[in-house]
Amino acid sequence: TKNSALPDLDASKLTIQLTPNPKEVPAEGFNPSWRHDLTTDHMITCTWTDETGWQTPALVPYGPFQIMPTASVLHYATECFEGMKCYRGYDNKLRLFRPQLNAARMLMSSTRIALPPFNPEELVKLIYKLVATDGGKWLPKPGSFFYIRPTSIATHPALGVQKPREALLYVICCAFPTLDAKPMKLLASEGQAVRAWPGGWGYAKVGANYGPSLMASDEAQKQGFNQILWLFGEENYVTEAGASNFFVLWRNKETQKLELITAPLTDKLILDGVTRRSVLELARERLTKAGAVEGLEEIEVVERKYTMDEVALAAEEGRLVEGFAAGTAFFVVAVSLVSYKGKDIIFPNKGTNADGTGVYGGAIKKWLKDTMFGNEEGKK
Ligand code: PMP
Repeated sequence: TKNSALPDLDASKLTIQLTPNPKEVPAEGFNPSWRHDLTTDHMITCTWTDETGWQTPALVPYGPFQIMPTASVLHYATECFEGMKCYRGYDNKLRLFRPQLNAARMLMSSTRIALPPFNPEELVKLIYKLVATDGGKWLPKPGSFFYIRPTSIATHPALGVQKPREALLYVICCAFPTLDAKPMKLLASEGQAVRAWPGGWGYAKVGANYGPSLMASDEAQKQGFNQILWLFGEENYVTEAGASNFFVLWRNKETQKLELITAPLTDKLILDGVTRRSVLELARERLTKAGAVEGLEEIEVVERKYTMDEVALAAEEGRLVEGFAAGTAFFVVAVSLVSYKGKDIIFPNKGTNADGTGVYGGAIKKWLKDTMFGNEEGKK
């Protein structure tokens, strides 16, 4: 076909224009004003049209770009994005954490929202170029990290509701404050607000999933909660917590064995989180055999549909052990409480971790951190 002959995204063609006005790096432990992000000095941009394919990618000074008021993205939410981080390891190397997974997910999201496909390996290469450019200055100390936001938008200037013929892919980075990893309190959404549904797009990282959820999360915050725990259907299936995946460690009612449970990907209601996947893999590799980790019991790892009533019953029967949320931005955060049907479900999270995670969630968090900061070799 005509399109298959068009140029793909090609990182080897990258042009580089460094900024004449470097910005100031925020002090360590800076207090974020959620009014504006502290973006780094540079960004990557690459335009696409259905007639030219992907054009030459460019590394340029961070700054605004112009799009027409008719641009498809401004009307029809033809947008998708990714969230990942660059870490300065304790060996002083800069690392991305499993960036291939983000690039593959971005391709999936792009396709879902009718944005052009691209070779995901080339996107990873472009991200490496950007962090190699800005990482030296913005990540001076081992243990520091910044956030990376690859984005794709339809710039096609036409109001006709149609598949876009022009797009812009860009990647920006912003400084991220030291995380306040205090345990979270969640408000369960009992049917009054729904994030995703069968046949929808809850599994894709498209902007259209987020804007419409802000009213509910703002309301929850006004009531003193950190996030919404999104439930689905009359059965109140547990899906995800805010913009992170949700995990429960409980004792199985029949066997009394420890089980780490999380919602499945199969019904396409939740995002296939990179952190979620890594938590599951680490738990399966390291915690499912008796005696594998000193002081910890063997656990079973389960991905299946489960309801909030099951969690409530486990709490009532003293079988609830830990709860945590997992995602790139806020990493692994203990959940201390979920408000459901007017009652507080309490997660014991027993242990001595300063961040309030229990011994199991805390162990998994430490292994993840060790990989991100180069204390142990991670997998691709
Ligand atoms: N669920 C949603 C809805 C999210 O937006 C995110 C953040 N990308 C996650 C889960 C966690 O995914 P990840 O671990 O890849 O950051």
